[in-house]
Amino acid sequence: FDFDLTAPFVPEFSTRDQMEHRHKVFPVQLIAANSNNPQAFRLNENALNAVLGHREIANKKIVIISVAGAFRKGKSFLLNFFLEYLYALQNAQQNDIKLEWLGDDTQLQGFHWRSGAKRDTVGIWLWGEPIMIEAANGEKYAVVLMDTQGTFDNSSTLKQCTTIFGLSTLLSSLQCYNVVDNIPEDALQHLTLFVEYGRLALKEAQDFGKPFQQLTFVVRDFKSPEEFPYSDGGSKFLEQVLQVTPDQPEELRVVREQLKECFDTLSCFLLPHPGYKVAEQGSFKGYVKDIRPLFREEAKRMTTALLNPQVLQPKLVNGKEITCKKMIDYIREFSRVFEN
Ligand code: GDP
Ligand code: MG
Repeated sequence: FDFDLTAPFVPEFSTRDQMEHRHKVFPVQLIAANSNNPQAFRLNENALNAVLGHREIANKKIVIISVAGAFRKGKSFLLNFFLEYLYALQNAQQNDIKLEWLGDDTQLQGFHWRSGAKRDTVGIWLWGEPIMIEAANGEKYAVVLMDTQGTFDNSSTLKQCTTIFGLSTLLSSLQCYNVVDNIPEDALQHLTLFVEYGRLALKEAQDFGKPFQQLTFVVRDFKSPEEFPYSDGGSKFLEQVLQVTPDQPEELRVVREQLKECFDTLSCFLLPHPGYKVAEQGSFKGYVKDIRPLFREEAKRMTTALLNPQVLQPKLVNGKEITCKKMIDYIREFSRVFEN
């Protein structure tokens, strides 16, 4: 693999340069699904190269944060909170200033969110560059954001999504599964399907211990804060959803046990409705001041809880933390397994 790229990766900037630089970066599509043939996937080598193929980061540990789920459920919107936080953190660390983010004047952007009409394609996107964060142990990690979308319209797209989600679960150190209102039984069932695919891929590639790291359910437009408060009700809510009882049908029990066996950590965050300006078609331009304050507060709390330097976990493969350089090999290897 050729690390000698012409465009150098220079994450060390002054605050102003960082702001300017950031707006030149876009998401790139790493894996594309073919809508005519649910079996066929294409790995975009150029995208892989553009994000991870820089000599300066070759030996840095990689952290991959994925957000997965169906279309039009606010994934990209949420990813822009992650972007905002990580860039603010990178800037604060590099220029030794106080971490401040999500002020009233902030315009959330980066991952495109769309209201209405045009259907996006199924696939996996990466933010165009890693964001360099100094972890609590003093090491600099390359943090990569991943956007995964699918649709469950019919059996062929279900197969396609299963594969795409399986792959993103396999590649990420943190998988956020975005759902609306609740964690429905079919979401759990889809998950075990993804997980099954992931396990198959692992069997063919290499033999690991617990195959996956962290799974976090993000429940949007959650409507029962009296019973499960937004601020800290998530784990209690998840506990209830994943409860295994003797009178449960076998099928439901197996799904729950499998999830617990496959992931090192399971967690859950509950988010309120973001307000009519965000949810209403077309009018919202990403300004933080137009977001319902309660949503802003909870999204901020969740982002900080998931991405702060104390908790960032590099991607583990075979129980070992891996580097950007190694990740390139793994992405190639895993996507080959999923190509047929
Ligand atoms: P994605 O397809 O899952 O990436 O969804 P987007 O982030 O593109 O959002 C789709 C639409 O839902 C946009 O109009 C957003 O402004 C809106 N939206 C974003 N977050 C939420 C949320 O938490 N609740 C509701 N009801 N709408 C949201
Ligand atoms: Mg999106």
